[in-house]
Amino acid sequence: MESGFVTFIGKQERPTRSINNIRKVGDILGIDDDIVNTIIYPQDVHVFRLHINLVGHPINVWGCTSFHNRARGIYKGGIRISSDVDIWNTIELSRLMTLKTSLVDLELGGAKTGIRFDISEAYKLLGKKQYDIKIESYVKKEIIREFAHHYREILLKKHYVPAPDINTGPAEMALIYDETHEPSSVTGKPEGVPGWLPGRKEATGYGVFIVVKNLIAKTKQKPEETTVAIQGFGNVGSNVAFFLDKLGVKIVAVEDKDGSVYKEEGIDVASLSKYVTSNGTVKGFCDPAADFFGVEVDIMIPAAINDAIDVKAAKKIKAKYIVEGANSPTTPEAMDILEKKGVIIIPDILSNAGGVIASSVEYANPISTQKMDNEEVFGMIKRKIGKSMDLASDIAKERSISLDLACTFLSAERLIKTMKNRGWT
Ligand code: NAD
Repeated sequence: MESGFVTFIGKQERPTRSINNIRKVGDILGIDDDIVNTIIYPQDVHVFRLHINLVGHPINVWGCTSFHNRARGIYKGGIRISSDVDIWNTIELSRLMTLKTSLVDLELGGAKTGIRFDISEAYKLLGKKQYDIKIESYVKKEIIREFAHHYREILLKKHYVPAPDINTGPAEMALIYDETHEPSSVTGKPEGVPGWLPGRKEATGYGVFIVVKNLIAKTKQKPEETTVAIQGFGNVGSNVAFFLDKLGVKIVAVEDKDGSVYKEEGIDVASLSKYVTSNGTVKGFCDPAADFFGVEVDIMIPAAINDAIDVKAAKKIKAKYIVEGANSPTTPEAMDILEKKGVIIIPDILSNAGGVIASSVEYANPISTQKMDNEEVFGMIKRKIGKSMDLASDIAKERSISLDLACTFLSAERLIKTMKNRGWT
């Protein structure tokens, strides 16, 4: 049966991986289409326009928030600034948040904000060519300050509690706090801002690291013999690189928006990080990878953008495992190819859940004067991701389904139960 959302909006969303998976779970459990649709479609979507003034240049910036599902708790989800934002990919990302929070059993719902802006446009407007960290942070701050002002009431009511995502980080979250002065109105705040949480900045990367560490333990391979390629060297990519490097794993290739680097004997992560701080990219640190997705590695970690692994990339991939640090980095068509090749995919809703697990602690302890330390936060991430991975692996084995589908199974089953208990279905 067609959903009310589709009739209302008049346009059908492309069948994303999460939609396909939710429908498959519905079939397995014999659930009505009406109930399946209540998990697929968002409860509320806001489109907004922000008026920004960049050193005398007034510009309109469009964005939207998809408030996907709050059956299990407040709407929670990051804010991204990117040129490829649209309503449909924002809805998909918000749906992944709902599935993720349910999978790792947090009392939170799912949401996402996408703000469409190409930061390179700001360079043109301001007549600059060279990478300049001050320009990047100035532009992001202007956008987020205006966003926080526009969303003041929603944020103050804690109807929606945002966090960092692509092109936003602790500095931008501090601006949201500046608008609300309410510690639990935003998570991912920097050190010293009331309600901040040690370990939150590294949390997503740490969760991805835990998944990789568990895989290495299962294969009985030594960390020093394990090779990894990482796409993205932002918050998630750089932190997972640091943790893996510390364990002795060899990171042989890294790619970002401008180019890639490759070193067979392993890249020095600390030096790469210093290089990126000054140059804004990994490009030029050492030789590039001839073909990033075709590199010979045990584990590929996409930790940058949506749809990075398409059919073309999937055909080249030689890795045995893909650990999804990014949200929705593998297209459904690529997924089919990879599954046929026997590549095991650890899905985004499990691998990158570390960030929202830490955020749940930050949200729940806003006025704590006695902070948890990094180790306690990391311990919680390790336990929650480890437990969900074990439960999903058991479901995958029992039902002979992929781990990807098993994660959606576990999550959707929990969500349906809650919605039933609330009388929503
Ligand atoms: P970020 O802005 O800190 O970093 C993004 C990285 O991706 C940069 O290194 C950038 O150069 C690279 N990149 C951009 N376009 C690219 C392209 N076309 N090809 C290759 N690399 C490209 O963002 P982040 O916070 O690290 O987020 C990365 C991914 O992880 C996103 O999918 C995000 O939704 C997901 N995620 C982030 C968090 C978090 O806590 N920050 C939590 C869960 C999931």
